Amino acid sequence: MDLNIKTNDKDHLDIGGADALDLVEEFGSPIYAIDEVRIRENYNKFYNSFSKYYPDFKVFYACKANTNLAVMKILESEGCCVDTVSPGEVYISRKLGFSPDRILFTGNNITDEELKMVHDMGVILNIDSVSALNRLSEVVNPKGFKISFRVNPMVGAGHHEHTITGGVMSKFGIMDNEASEVYAMAKDLGFDPIGMHSHIGSGILDPEPFKLAIGSTMDIAGKVHEDTGIDFEFVDFGGGVGVPYTPEEKALDLDHFASENISFFKEKLSEYNMGKPTMYLEPGRYLVADAVTLLVKVNSVKQSYRKFIGVNAGFNTLLRPSMYDSYHHIVDASKMSAPITQEVDVAGNVCESGDLFARDRPLPDVEEGDVLGILNAGAYGFTMASNYNSRPLPAEVLVNNGEATLVRKAQTFDDLLEGQIIPEHLE
Ligand SMILES: *Cc1c(COP(=O)(O)O)cnc(C)c1O
Repeated sequence: MDLNIKTNDKDHLDIGGADALDLVEEFGSPIYAIDEVRIRENYNKFYNSFSKYYPDFKVFYACKANTNLAVMKILESEGCCVDTVSPGEVYISRKLGFSPDRILFTGNNITDEELKMVHDMGVILNIDSVSALNRLSEVVNPKGFKISFRVNPMVGAGHHEHTITGGVMSKFGIMDNEASEVYAMAKDLGFDPIGMHSHIGSGILDPEPFKLAIGSTMDIAGKVHEDTGIDFEFVDFGGGVGVPYTPEEKALDLDHFASENISFFKEKLSEYNMGKPTMYLEPGRYLVADAVTLLVKVNSVKQSYRKFIGVNAGFNTLLRPSMYDSYHHIVDASKMSAPITQEVDVAGNVCESGDLFARDRPLPDVEEGDVLGILNAGAYGFTMASNYNSRPLPAEVLVNNGEATLVRKAQTFDDLLEGQIIPEHLE
């Protein structure tokens, strides 16, 4: 099994050297517990796998997966760059010490004001449409400003329809067959177009779609190079590398994946005489997913027409199971080696029938008061959490070799009132 699960000598779930039950005891629950060492390992494994075959290589962490400041600071300290999709993410990245040359902006359907704001911060933009190009040229001085375009490589893949970002149904990128024209247009406007970007989807464990996307993106880049004479400084193949969520899924063999894709990339570079542009990749999920566990407490065990294990968190805390029908492995952190005795539903505390973390899940004899660990909660976990049902957002704790530090306080009820104004006539 390729899931990241460790058990300590008390038969409890171990998180980066800390006992999951101690974390809940000290910091309460539900709580997102982050393992610092695991993030560093994931980054280094990813970076080294590719850079050893192609040293002109950079990793841009797609931070929408997890914008916790400590998480981003850890990656910053490793030398990682960051890919952002909103001005807010650029703002956070700048605050944390990422210099503008370490930040990419890959927004879509953004306003003139946002375009200008991101430009003024000195960040490189992956422009998503002719509309954005024209609007950018009106709000900034294009002279010599380096830009890149997101193209649609006509390949899409992902763990769910909502996460597929290439192909004819996708809202992202400029069309493959208009690329040369658009790059020429950018040059005419005075911009310095030096990059090309594509991103085909998320949660991909099959190497095939990546290879197709690299091929088609390089064919587009090669054609643009031939048609317009643009020398690309970078080609960016986006993110999307998946992680195993179920015990049956196998992790991608990253080394093999890197070596195959880099040789294909190099073939294409020489086919089109493109020199040696830097290769960018934008992993989000891969770097953070398995470094975070959502710890929840069982507050009721109920035998109805089915058996429900009721916990003190819901899709307001972790949306993926309800939103994408995603599987998250669940362990009883209080008795890790207890035998599986039943198949039960694990239900949240939100008032909706769809609020389930799992259906018919093999689990041991879970009791009220037990702590459950919901694994792989590091990507699109906290960042998609909400205040639905007027529940405060949970705390986040960082564990570094057994040392636990609170890195985000749980919200209070007063936080739920924050920013709201009752008009005078209702007072
Ligand atoms: C979301 C996103 C990524 C990261 O996707 P993962 O599946 O988390 O690796 C990378 N690039 C862009 C442009 C994205 O929108």
